[in-house]
Amino acid sequence: MDKRLNSKQIKNLINLDKKNIWHPFTQMADWVKDVPSQPLIIERAKGSYLYDANGKKYIDGVSSLWLTLFGHRNKKIDSAVKAQLAKVAHSTFLGLTHVPAIELSQKLLNVLPKNFTKVFYSDNGSTSVEVALKMAYQYAKTQNPKTKKQSFLSLKNAYHGDTVGSVSVGGMGIFHSIFKKMLFKNFFAPSPYCYRCPHRNSKGIMPFYNKAKGFKEHCKTTGCAGQCLREVEVILKKHHNEIAAAIIEPLVQGAAGMITMPKGYLSAFAAMCKKYNVLLICDEVATGFGHTGKMFAIEHEQIKPDFICLSKGITGGYLPLAATITTEKIYKSFLGKYEDFKTFFHGHSYTANPLACAAANATLDIFKDEKIIDRNAEKLKYFTALLNKLSRHKNVGQIRQCGFMVGIEIVKNSNTGESFDFKLKTGAKICAALRKRGIILRPLGDTIIILPHLTISKTDIAHIVNSIETELNAL
Ligand SMILES: *Cc1c(COP(=O)(O)O)cnc(C)c1O
Repeated sequence: MDKRLNSKQIKNLINLDKKNIWHPFTQMADWVKDVPSQPLIIERAKGSYLYDANGKKYIDGVSSLWLTLFGHRNKKIDSAVKAQLAKVAHSTFLGLTHVPAIELSQKLLNVLPKNFTKVFYSDNGSTSVEVALKMAYQYAKTQNPKTKKQSFLSLKNAYHGDTVGSVSVGGMGIFHSIFKKMLFKNFFAPSPYCYRCPHRNSKGIMPFYNKAKGFKEHCKTTGCAGQCLREVEVILKKHHNEIAAAIIEPLVQGAAGMITMPKGYLSAFAAMCKKYNVLLICDEVATGFGHTGKMFAIEHEQIKPDFICLSKGITGGYLPLAATITTEKIYKSFLGKYEDFKTFFHGHSYTANPLACAAANATLDIFKDEKIIDRNAEKLKYFTALLNKLSRHKNVGQIRQCGFMVGIEIVKNSNTGESFDFKLKTGAKICAALRKRGIILRPLGDTIIILPHLTISKTDIAHIVNSIETELNAL
């Protein structure tokens, strides 16, 4: 085994990091000053745990940002990548093909609804969305060269990635508003954020949500989610001739703080797209591969979108890979003579990287061979029971859970829903404190996110939830 770094080496490395590196989604002024927690060098990992350069062990409570599925250094994925490494690490996918990508295409189609027939690879979630948007746009043009279908419909609070196309359909003010002038026109429908429903009545707070009793059956047309859907329909009715596709994160708006959609919302949304002849893109970059308790979120409401975007968990969290998967109808519209210029002119250098495809093949084999989805049902019940108990805490506004995806919205006063002043960085401070307890979480504002490995133990789940409670008591 390698010798452990000594404290002087660690200090030098951290200084070098601060001197040379610009980290993503990070206020570097805070990073340089160690606010609210010190930079941590992750040196190795095993199973559900990360180990820092000092050898301290942490539960990887957000799966290295929603990626790792079966723990770190999974034997089957490790050996699949090593075996592929002995053959070829990379060769282009433009005009050539290779075994792992071919095998993977079949494995993906086998676990998806039968309307999907064609797999287009890329290398990250944002590009998988970008590809779907461009395909939908080009499809509309090939159907009718004079089409006005040049815009998209998405939801407020949506997150679809960081490239300019995916930001254009993104609805998160704090990430996206500064880039407004760079972006293309988009129609935004309300986010089905029931806890902070914009249709609450004038008398008080949250008429549709009662902390003790939970939600009313608000998906019947009279409730607030009914209103969200009605607003989707208003846009579609008026503008469907301008909309090439609607894009949605099915069941959970992840980056917005795990905003879970009320039952029935997704299928109603999909039905409306059909009714108004608007293509539907489901961005399952976060929800895919078991995170919602089923293989894909679309299975919960049995919808059949025109595109599905996959990335994050696709390689078990090992390597960058993405897939945009679509139907025969879309694919066929791109066929023609070379000189017709119907070709889809899009592709990335590392498209369908063979090492990543090998990891993805092993990942799909593990799901099948180890019956991961079925075997996790009981663990999820246990997780839910612990969260239900935590939801009674006076500083917990709402706990949103969809399978392994959990958002705990921390508030100053759970009777009124009043938030803490955002300058207090309450979420970040709680996570900094949890780090001392051997738990790595990354909050989204004041929503504490838990998205553990599908293979996490019940003991570790309990440790995470109980430690959050302890830190809330200390607020
Ligand atoms: C993370 C995420 C993306 C972006 O994926 P990257 O690989 O980070 O580009 C897109 N859509 C959703 C729903 C995501 O959660």
